[in-house]
Amino acid sequence: MYKTKAYSAASKTSKMALDSIPRRDPTESDVQIEILFCGICHSDLHTVRDEWASVWPTVFPAVPGHEIVGKVTKVGAKVTKHKVGDTVAVGCLVDSDHTCAQCSKGLEQFCPNATFTYNAPDKHGTAPVTYGGYSDSIVVNERFVLRVPKGLDLAGAAPLLCAGITTYSPMKHWGVTKGKKVGVVGLGGLGHMGVKFAHALGGHTVVFTTSPGKVEDAKRLGADEVVISKNANEMAKHVGSFDFILDCVSADHDINAYLNLLKPDGTVTLVGAPEKPLPVSAFSLLFGRRSLSGSPIGGLPETQEMLDFCGKNNITSDVEVIPIQKVNEAYERLLKQDVKYRFCIDMASLR
Ligand code: NAP
Ligand code: ZN
Repeated sequence: MYKTKAYSAASKTSKMALDSIPRRDPTESDVQIEILFCGICHSDLHTVRDEWASVWPTVFPAVPGHEIVGKVTKVGAKVTKHKVGDTVAVGCLVDSDHTCAQCSKGLEQFCPNATFTYNAPDKHGTAPVTYGGYSDSIVVNERFVLRVPKGLDLAGAAPLLCAGITTYSPMKHWGVTKGKKVGVVGLGGLGHMGVKFAHALGGHTVVFTTSPGKVEDAKRLGADEVVISKNANEMAKHVGSFDFILDCVSADHDINAYLNLLKPDGTVTLVGAPEKPLPVSAFSLLFGRRSLSGSPIGGLPETQEMLDFCGKNNITSDVEVIPIQKVNEAYERLLKQDVKYRFCIDMASLR
């Protein structure tokens, strides 16, 4: 075991502050990574403030961060995928049971024994729970360490590990292609990646935003149309017209307004995870045989596929790079929808 610097929250009302946390020494199948950049996901904020207490209570101290890019500094004797010096990435998972039906299909996100990157029981017993990427270094099973394609900006690549895969995976699953009308609700970290992918996959892409100031950006990011969702007239023009809508909103909102925009057999997929349940009207679903679904991150093979797709198409996240000392300020700005479009921590500021 060794100690490494990190930023942690001591309680749900504490500010994040400098801490020293334990990491295990790499086992034979582990990779040790010096973290260069870590994105700030709204899930980090939900966790630190214990907003998901009813389904996933936070164990404190909490070290969030699951959009990690770094350099390999050490590998275990049986590691074959990575070597010292490689530029690698880690997302929301750091381990699984490797043996269940889901793992054998490369759908590790559905493994009943998956280990999330933070706030999950630490099966190595190094600490009560896993600690995430707001930290100097991390030790991860090699299967959960991904290759970063050459040429991608590393700060912009970090958010691909959560915001990227969480929006790419449902678009592939529900068949976003040329000729499909695709909505993206909420232009934040996830939403702006959703727009980039919907556009790159050839969909007619419509952004729904509550922020009039984001209209021009939405178009620059790849939207064909932008709707201010508070404007009922603008919403009414799109009733019954969408094949697929990806809902990336982090807070309470009316989901029925989006179900009503679907064509028959269309799907709204929730990737946003608001604190409170969202009421659903039966009529929004049964007229048009519409579906409401959800999707969590993605498996490891698909995450590598997404990274390679980004490498080929030069897709990265639009980031505002900050030193870790500004993390508390960044959380406040995230709550005010004031981020364009992902905060990314330059971990050199911790050293
Ligand atoms: P974010 O950057 O804060 O973006 C959220 C966006 O939602 C905002 O930019 C805003 O867009 C919209 N919004 C916020 N409050 C709203 C309100 N009261 N009414 C309507 N719209 C509102 O957050 P993020 O990091 O993209 O994460 C979004 C959500 O996805 C979070 O709940 C997060 O926990 C969840 N998440 C889920 C997964 C998964 O695996 N499914 C993975 C990562 C994150 P506009 O300004 O355009 O309206
Ligand atoms: Zn995330």
